Amino acid sequence: MATRRLLISYAHPDDESFGLGGLIARYVAEGVEVYLICATNGECGTVSPEHLNGYSSVAELRLAELDCAAEKLGLKRVYKLGYRDSGMMGSETSLHPDCLWQADQAEVTRRVVEVMREVRPQVVITFNRYGGYGHPDHIAIQRATTTAFSAAGSPEYDTGQEPYRPQKLYYSGIDSGFLRFAITIMKLRGKDPRRLGRNADIDLQAVLDNVEPVHARVRVRDYYEAWDEASNCHASQLGGGAPRLPLFLRKLLSPYQGFTRVFPAPPANRVDEYDLFAGVTADEAELDRVR
Ligand SMILES: [Zn+2]
Repeated sequence: MATRRLLISYAHPDDESFGLGGLIARYVAEGVEVYLICATNGECGTVSPEHLNGYSSVAELRLAELDCAAEKLGLKRVYKLGYRDSGMMGSETSLHPDCLWQADQAEVTRRVVEVMREVRPQVVITFNRYGGYGHPDHIAIQRATTTAFSAAGSPEYDTGQEPYRPQKLYYSGIDSGFLRFAITIMKLRGKDPRRLGRNADIDLQAVLDNVEPVHARVRVRDYYEAWDEASNCHASQLGGGAPRLPLFLRKLLSPYQGFTRVFPAPPANRVDEYDLFAGVTADEAELDRVR
């Protein structure tokens, strides 16, 4: 079996750890090479002054936090695309000419294709079509990654690299049962589920309304400690969100993480896999290189 490679295509320094820390830790432990695209520098994250000590900018701080998480998780390589964080939808920052939301989509797609052809992952993960919680950068990288997934294998799409077709594309899923539970708890505590997070820009109700069907459920129960360790690297972005439940409770409530399989298209909207690499074959190009 050829080396298994997973490419995660996300937007901000912290998306990888907060969203997929357990999954990454699991696959790294199983010998999979995990690569990350982080499209922006995270300039728009709200940061308390004490966290900025020793850093010249929010971007510098957040990229350093990403390096910390990458090391804890054992990421093989992080591709920082360097776009400016767009901030919330409709905000002033989302109009900045250097931000990801304003970037030429064909150019972003091209950069993702270049990474795909270099890394040659069998499996690719990005956000769902709502960008998880509607963040413009999440939506922009989701669109670019989905287009790149189809384009990377085409000889007509010229980047000066050999074409390469990844085998599977997933959107990171959202546990709707857990989400309903969280919304109920927040309401009981008098918190507004439509204004969650350090930057008060997460609308949990809208997240729930945009949930997509889950086809793969990956067990992450044994990797919560590693998950927390990676998340703790992003200290400037912790706090202000929903309080972290005790470890045993999270393991009990969410032992699995769900994913929407975009390609190959699922025969029905039900869970039919427990491993993102299920059915992945050693591709011909890879075999040629080994020979
Ligand atoms: Zn993000």
